[in-house]
Amino acid sequence: MLTTFNSMLEMMREAPDEQSAIDHFTAIRWKNGAFCPHCNSDRIYCFSDQRTHKCGHCRKRFSIRVGTIFEDSKLPLRTWLLAIWLITSHKKGIASTQLAKDLGITQKSAWFVLHRLRYAAQTRSFNRPLSGEVEADETFIGGEQMNKHSWQRTGGKQSGK
Ligand SMILES: [Zn+2]
Repeated sequence: MLTTFNSMLEMMREAPDEQSAIDHFTAIRWKNGAFCPHCNSDRIYCFSDQRTHKCGHCRKRFSIRVGTIFEDSKLPLRTWLLAIWLITSHKKGIASTQLAKDLGITQKSAWFVLHRLRYAAQTRSFNRPLSGEVEADETFIGGEQMNKHSWQRTGGKQSGK
């Protein structure tokens, strides 16, 4: 389900800017209908900025990222979509250094992106992990030693993001 585009060109066409990337992800996340990430109500209102939603039940405002692996990331959704495409097209895995270069982000961010997307691939969902679940589990990134940079191999932990 993580493979959202067949090619780089298709991605560029479908998500030429951040808003269309948001729209694209919204369509995936709400393919069975809009719902509130706080109370699951389906009484959702959309603001005219097309990015903010409000729940008619609990009255909370939220973006489509709330409750997903993207929630606490500052990276644009478009960068995430591109990362998904890059990762799924590198069947043997992609190093965080390469991903950082391709996306124009820091290696630390790239490592976080890889970590989160691997979690999403495992759970087949974009739902956010329970607090601490990903970062606490070192075996999560096991099995791909060759793709890891030395500071990760030696157990370098990500502190804050
Ligand atoms: Zn609600």
